[in-house]
Formats: sequence, structure tokens, C-alpha cells
Amino acid sequence: MQSQDDPEPTVRIRDLKKDRADFVLENVDLAFANSLRRVMMADIPTIAIDMVEVDTNTSVLPDEFIAHRLGMVPLVSTNCDEAMKYNRDCTCMSFCSYCSITLILDVSCNEAITMDITSNHLDVVAAPTDIYAAEGGDELTKRSTDFGHPVGKNRPGVPPVLICKIRKGQALKMKCIAKKGIAKEHAKWSPCSAVSFEYDPYNKLRHTTHWFEVDERGEWPVSDNAREEDPPRDDELFDFNAKPRKFYFEVETDGSLGPQEVVMKGLKELQTKLANLILGLKHDTEVDMINGQDQQLAVPAPAADAWGGGGGGGGGWGDSSGWGGSSSPSRTGGTSAWGGASPTSGGGSGGWSSPEQQSNGWTV
Ligand SMILES: [Zn+2]
Repeated sequence: MQSQDDPEPTVRIRDLKKDRADFVLENVDLAFANSLRRVMMADIPTIAIDMVEVDTNTSVLPDEFIAHRLGMVPLVSTNCDEAMKYNRDCTCMSFCSYCSITLILDVSCNEAITMDITSNHLDVVAAPTDIYAAEGGDELTKRSTDFGHPVGKNRPGVPPVLICKIRKGQALKMKCIAKKGIAKEHAKWSPCSAVSFEYDPYNKLRHTTHWFEVDERGEWPVSDNAREEDPPRDDELFDFNAKPRKFYFEVETDGSLGPQEVVMKGLKELQTKLANLILGLKHDTEVDMINGQDQQLAVPAPAADAWGGGGGGGGGWGDSSGWGGSSSPSRTGGTSAWGGASPTSGGGSGGWSSPEQQSNGWTV
């Protein structure tokens, strides 16, 4: 945690493209940086095909094989938080336009060629007026026009996702129901194709002291991030108390969400988890007080520093809400707080385990 003398955390954006962001996060500890990385990968909702009704499949691939491939197709999920309900939270009977998107895949091959079926063949069915629709919210009005469409559909220069190949006389007809979810349930809901960070590019923390084979420096190739730091002097003594405080992040998305949205929602999600933790602790304190124990748990509110304020030179992430500001749990469904996993998460994939350092300085 931050002590009072520590400078405030800063974010400095070095590069921002349509599908990737490169930024430097400073003045936080390793656990926080890794928490942010894991949250961005696993806790941000997107939409993905979750149910497939097969009408015709005369291709060489079995139904479940194609269903799996369809699930992995990234769909535009901008503002998914507000534009769609979780199916499990919806009041409809099975699924409705508030909690699902319907896509149709209907392709047949009538010529003597090998035909590619791609994500460009997936057509979104306009939201019907459902008989069993949930009580109306404003979700539908918060959707962009391409919400739920395959990423890059019919956009020149963006290759579509190949689903299957068929020959003359073969056909594929399927109805796909896309739902909102998070990657703790299934990796198809992850908005990120890769999130990584590097720290200590010069290996001043001596990750390889017991690992190098012949040449300690030669076996630690220095990355471009080294330009941000001073090289160690030959006579520099090892600082036993040094801790990593500067992290070079690279966030790459699959196109379902923009990198800026991923980082902002990642911070917000972390904030929510912390708020849940504080709420949980407060509850315990109150219980203790009721029991006559005059015990106050010291739960310092996170310092109100500015994530959106940006670091020197790079600017911030726009209208970020203040870290430590008031925040309420955004998910319903009984998710627990810190360390908790989503209701459907399996095994140990979630949670907040402490990072392990590998010899190459990346965390896993
Ligand atoms: Zn519904």
C-alpha cells in the first residue's frame, strides 16, 4: 500500500492505437500493477456467442467444433456495461433483446469451389419486440449501430475470422445467441488478446543472480523501455530494499473494446473490488461494535489521487473518476469482494494471488 510520503500514482500514455495502448504506470507496487493486468484480462464484460442452434451443417466439421469457433469470434461490445444485461440477471424467460444479441449464419456453396465461411457471413438480427422481454430498461438506446457485429465486418483491410470451409453442395445454417459475460467464465469474453508489463529493464533487482549460465548481462537483453531509466554503474552496489515502482504496460485488445475503455474499466473494476472489501470490513466492525467490542478496524480509504490527472508529459485517460472515489458494486449476483470470483468462475483462475517473479522479469 501507499505510505503517506509516496508520490501519487501516475499514468503516462506513450502510444495509443485503435487496438493497443502503451503506457507507463508509476508509483504503485508490483501487486497493484499485476492486479490491474489481471482485471483487464478477466473481469471486463464483453459479448460473445454463447449458444448455437444448428439447423443445417453438412460441412466436414462437427457442430460443436463450429460452435466453439463461433464463440471465439470477437463482437463489438462498446459500452457493454450499460448497453446489455447479464442473461442471469434478466427477468426474461430464456433470453431477450435486453440480455442477448441474435446472429444468423446461413451460407451454402453451389459452385465447384472451396468456399470460406467467415465472420463476415454472421448477420445480426434486429432486436425483435419480444413477447417475453424483460421489463424495459434503457439498455437498447445505449448501443452503437454496430453493437454485437463481428469486429471489422466488411471493413477493408481487416481480415475476417475464418470459421469453416465448404465445398459444392455443402451448407451451414445456424442461429447464434450472444450474451454478456466475463473472461473468468470463459476466455472468449476477454477483451484482451494480450496484456503485459515490464519493470526493471536493466535488471537492477538482479532477477538472474542465480539463473544466468555464462554472461549475466548478455542473457538479459535490454528492451526499449530501458531508455526510460538510468543504466546501472559498474560500481553500483545492490540495493536490497529496492522495489519495482515503474511498470511499462502494453495492452492489446481483440477489437471488441478499445484499449482506452479496457484500461478505464479495469481501474474502475479494481476500485469496485476495493470498495466491496471496505464495505465488508465495515460490516465486520459494526458487528463487533454491536457485540460490545470497542474495536475499530483501521481501514484507510485509498488516497484520492488522480488517475485521470496523468503523469508528466503524457496526459491521462481523460475523464477518469478519482481513485478512491465513491463507488458501488457494479455487478449483482452475489459476487464476493476481494479475492472473490464471479459466480460462475471455476477453480483458481480468479482471485488475487501474489505475483511470481520469473527470471525474465515478467509476472505470470
Ligand atoms: Zn432477457
